[in-house]
Amino acid sequence: MSPEVTPASVPLRQRFTRGLDAPICLTWELTYACNLACVHCLSSSGRRDPMELTPAEARQIVDELAAMKVFYVNIGGGEPMLRPDFFELLGYAVEKRVGVKFSTNGTRLTAEKARRLAAMDYLDVQISIDGAVASTNDAVRGEGAFGAARQAMEHLADANFGQFKISVVVTRDNVSQLDQFSEMAQHYGAQLRLTRFRPSGRGAETWEALHPTAGQQRTLYLWLRDHPDVLTGDSFFHLSALGEPLDGLNLCGAGRVVCLIDPVGDVYACPFVIDREFLAGNVRRPGGFAAVWRESELFQSLREPQSAGACASCGSYDACQGGCMAAKFFTGLPLDGPDPECVFGHGETALAARPADARPGFTVGHSKIDASGTPIAVPTPVRFRPSARV
Ligand code: SF4
Ligand code: SF4
Repeated sequence: MSPEVTPASVPLRQRFTRGLDAPICLTWELTYACNLACVHCLSSSGRRDPMELTPAEARQIVDELAAMKVFYVNIGGGEPMLRPDFFELLGYAVEKRVGVKFSTNGTRLTAEKARRLAAMDYLDVQISIDGAVASTNDAVRGEGAFGAARQAMEHLADANFGQFKISVVVTRDNVSQLDQFSEMAQHYGAQLRLTRFRPSGRGAETWEALHPTAGQQRTLYLWLRDHPDVLTGDSFFHLSALGEPLDGLNLCGAGRVVCLIDPVGDVYACPFVIDREFLAGNVRRPGGFAAVWRESELFQSLREPQSAGACASCGSYDACQGGCMAAKFFTGLPLDGPDPECVFGHGETALAARPADARPGFTVGHSKIDASGTPIAVPTPVRFRPSARV
């Protein structure tokens, strides 16, 4: 007789693979407006979308998340602090006991706002910085962005905010600065978080030049093994094929434990796949977010066992699972093939063999545009004009 299979007897990873009643890592982008124009922005942010959720609709989402017992939400953008109702929404989430971790470029985080944030519960702040020195950071995030981020960190430390996060997208140009990032975090009593550079949004155009080389990936893997206290959001599990698995679930959580609500209420399988192909529904439709999460055909299909495809014969498949769906999709590789950064070089071979038109075109983009309507592809200098409208 086979033993009874109860939820508790199913291994954790298997349960996550089948999907949960509510996401454990929900990202909510509040606005596409941004005063920067980072070259790797996953949501191609810049201009506010006129259809963005109203304050009342945003509060309704918080109500839904509270009813679904979502413990916390990652808030981002765009630059979320540009939303006029930002603090009201934070307060509302806290009141409903939905914890918030929000990411900011720091340009609007004044000393007064840092004190206001420090006085709130259930709140975490993540300052984005992509270089341990100004030249490396500002090449990606725009002139003045490094100074603004450091100033925001100073304000949080002065306000005794506690252990905020310093968030870094690992690139070819900053991988040599990992120790410096770690020292920066120690200096502020903060925690370092490293994220993988995915070829999403504007990152699709810059990934080729900026993603870490094969040698750098190995360096990063070894560094992460030596620094288990550094947060990664499980984003480097493709590196687990190099040996001992990195800490984390080591699986693609898209539509299973992860998803994204964008500023107009569209729900995507993960923050890095903002494309119609991975659009599951919209919170404005009947049933709201819960119906999308529980019933959408896309999410149901992502919760089915996935084919290992060309990775089936790889001895490291258990650790790497074929890597990141978003990285494959936006580089034009088959979703059941190797990750473009496969540590055994199979991704590079697949990239060289892909048809010229394999990469998807843009379906969603809010980049700033110049007078002729052409998207601005280079970072713009930061201007410290707190009252400026974006
Ligand atoms: S697609 Fe990539 S970024 Fe998104 S959940 Fe899967 S592994 Fe993570
Ligand atoms: S062949 Fe596939 S499973 Fe193996 S390491 Fe490369 S991407 Fe991962």
